Amino acid sequence: MQRPYNFSAGPATIPSEVLSQAAAEMLNWPDATGRLCGMGVMEMSHRGKEFLSIYEKTEADLRELLNIPNQFKILFMQGGGLAENAIVPLNLSALRPNPETRGAADFVVTGSWSKKSLDEATKFCDARVAASDQINGFTRIPEPSTWNLREKASYVHLCTNETINGLEFHQLPDLKALGSAAELVIDFSSHVASRPVDWSRVGLAFGGAQKNLGPAGLTLVVVREDLLGHALPICPSAFDYQMVASNQSMYNTPPTYAIYIAGLVFQWLKRQGGVLAMEQQNIAKAKLLYDAIDQSSFYVNKVALDSRSRMNVPFFLRDESRNEAFLTGAKEAGLLQLKGHKSVGGMRASIYNAMPLEGVQTLVQYMREFERTLS
Ligand SMILES: *Cc1c(COP(=O)(O)O)cnc(C)c1O
Repeated sequence: MQRPYNFSAGPATIPSEVLSQAAAEMLNWPDATGRLCGMGVMEMSHRGKEFLSIYEKTEADLRELLNIPNQFKILFMQGGGLAENAIVPLNLSALRPNPETRGAADFVVTGSWSKKSLDEATKFCDARVAASDQINGFTRIPEPSTWNLREKASYVHLCTNETINGLEFHQLPDLKALGSAAELVIDFSSHVASRPVDWSRVGLAFGGAQKNLGPAGLTLVVVREDLLGHALPICPSAFDYQMVASNQSMYNTPPTYAIYIAGLVFQWLKRQGGVLAMEQQNIAKAKLLYDAIDQSSFYVNKVALDSRSRMNVPFFLRDESRNEAFLTGAKEAGLLQLKGHKSVGGMRASIYNAMPLEGVQTLVQYMREFERTLS
């Protein structure tokens, strides 16, 4: 049975093979040798050998896929990207202690998510905008040489893929070359595992799993070891990175089932050829869709060419009175969840790793067809 293509921004489509395997293993999980253990994954103790084997393989596969160096810890947490907006300043704002003032952090505001991160961080530290493209309606990543970086800042926060506005950093800034000693913190929720990460430029990366890694409820944090142990005294223990790291993400019960599904997604990614192969596929998918938009006089995307996201493609019908008809026809054609975020309007196609090329081809065909029937 062919499932419809689901363009939801998150929770988002998961490879059918992963869901089928999870369904087959729901009641009785088989280990690597095929021996049934008598329990489903949801029913296992997180400290039992069965779940520990799932956990260890998941972590190792992720380290291999993302090429994460050994001096970085991989943490599986809860609370999503929004909780990390608080957890990061609670842990990192005092990296550079200043007895008179609160710790400082600089934010590059490129859309809704980095704006949210900034607003939350002001509760915990001296958070400031280093650069913003808000006056242009978030259509371009501000050039790093123009960023206003403060010497006292402990870290610089970027959202490297703005899920709502459809902007992506195609290169991470080299903060040292910009004269800053701050650590780089990236929110890579919506493009993690879609492309390689240059870890030499990153201190900490976080992301919710529900866009590109698996189900909601799991939050991935990758943090360089020397950044652990600087949490503010008010930081909850369950959110203290050092506490989480020293307990192998099991200070409290981790989201076991979400970790298991993410593990199946990692195995699927390895079968696809890994992150570099995914990146090529993602480039091809994004080009197909942006070309279709740019070559038409019916659809428009306002983001500068060099700042466009490969994962989330917002677009507008020039005649917005056709929006409802577009969405109804799309659903009939097996193309789901194309409505844009309410703060932006229009349409948005999220084309994460699990969206096959055929899904984008079908969407582009539908867009051309819809345009033709109306002109
Ligand atoms: C979805 C998303 C979040 C929020 O994740 P929650 O799990 O809802 O907290 C944060 N940042 C980015 C870039 C996102 O796409």
